[in-house]
Order: sequence, then structure tokens, then C-alpha cells
Amino acid sequence: MRKINRPPCPNPTALATDYKYPQNKEALKNASFGKCMYCESIISHIDYGDIEHIKPKSRFPWLKFEWNNLWYSCTRCNREYKKDKFNEDTPYINPYNEDPNEHIFISGAFVMQKQGSERGELTKIDIGLNRDSLIQNRQEKIDRVQKTVDACYRTSNEALKNDALEALKKEANEDKEYSLCIKYLLKSQDII
Ligand SMILES: [Zn+2]
Repeated sequence: MRKINRPPCPNPTALATDYKYPQNKEALKNASFGKCMYCESIISHIDYGDIEHIKPKSRFPWLKFEWNNLWYSCTRCNREYKKDKFNEDTPYINPYNEDPNEHIFISGAFVMQKQGSERGELTKIDIGLNRDSLIQNRQEKIDRVQKTVDACYRTSNEALKNDALEALKKEANEDKEYSLCIKYLLKSQDII
């Protein structure tokens, strides 16, 4: 989960009657670089993506067409895990309003809550952020990046090494799939 800048709603008129209006959905999709705002999977790789209600529309019907209550997620995070859950005392991390790094970090391929963060812990558990498929996907990416790191440090050519490291740093950018675990991996090796 990475910080996301919420774009202005491109078509508020359409939003008033259709929370999934394609132009508006596209804006939310682009804001998270096509990734699920919870799990960082690139959604076009797995499904069409859901426009999700932070506060579920079944319990907060007056927020069904409220732009600030909408976000873009994969169907697994939304329909299999979050569903209609929302606790007002311990709200899930909202990456459009706050930096998730205040609540979570990544250890290897696992999302962990920061000390004492109930919101981080609840988000991790309820959204299934450490489900098997995500751990496997993150670990595969970590292994690929680590191989490149090793190759960089084994080469004796400084120019080649630096070029490769610069390319590698881009894997930690927010537009890349599972970028947060790569950010932590590269930080732990003093590459970024
Ligand atoms: Zn997801």
C-alpha cells in the first residue's frame, strides 16, 4: 500500500447517479497507476477492478456517490476480504488521505503493522494483505530483484554496475507492482 494522490472527480454530474462511471473510474485507476490501492497488484493482470466504498454503501448509503468515499481495488481485496467491514473506531488505512508508512512496513514479503498500530494490524488482517498468493507474488519479485542486485555487485565494471543499479531503483517507484516490498529490500541493502 502506497500513498495515493486523489484526483479531482472528472465528471461530478455523472457521479451523482453512477459511482462506477467509466471516466471517473479511469481517474481513480490512473491515480494508483492501475494498481489495487490495498495490495499493489496491477489490476489489469487479474481482473477489471472495483470501485470500492471506503465506508460500505450498505451501511452508509448517503455516501454511495461521495467521491472521497470511493477508491480503486482488486476484486479479491474488495469482495473476498473487506466486503462490508468498516469500523469507525479503527478505520482502515486510507492511502488517499494518509501515508500508509505511518502504520505498516514490509519485512521480506510480509506486511507488518508498526508498533501499536491497531489500524495497521486490522487493515493487514481484514484485507488479507498476507494471503498466500500475495506472499508468493511479492517473493517472486524480491527474488528477481535480488538476482539483479547480486549481478550488479559481482561486475567489476563500475559504469555497468551504476547503470544497472539506477534501473533497479525504478522497481521501488510507486508505479511499479509490489513496489513497497522492493523499496524495503533496496533500503535494507543501502541501494536507495
Ligand atoms: Zn488488492
